[in-house]
Amino acid sequence: MCFWRKIEERYQCGHVKRPDLKQVDCERSDCKVSAYHRGDAHNCRQTCNQTFTAANWVALTKATRCADCGGG
Ligand SMILES: [Zn+2]
Ligand SMILES: [Zn+2]
Ligand SMILES: [Zn+2]
Repeated sequence: MCFWRKIEERYQCGHVKRPDLKQVDCERSDCKVSAYHRGDAHNCRQTCNQTFTAANWVALTKATRCADCGGG
C-alpha cells in the first residue's frame, strides 16, 4: 500500500536535514489513496486500503558538508 518515504540526511558537518516527505504510490486499484484507485462503484471501505502506511525514518549518510556549511 502507499506509504511516505521519510529520508534523513546526515552530513559530515554534523547537521541533519529532513527534506520533504515523499509519497510513494503502490499503483494498486484497491487502494483509496493511490492515483490508480478504481473509479467504478464499489464498497470502498470494505475492499480498499484507506490510508497511507506509516514509514520509519531512513538515515542517509552524506560524504559532504551540508549546503549551509558550504558543502555539496
Ligand atoms: Zn496505495
Ligand atoms: Zn476504493
Ligand atoms: Zn552543516
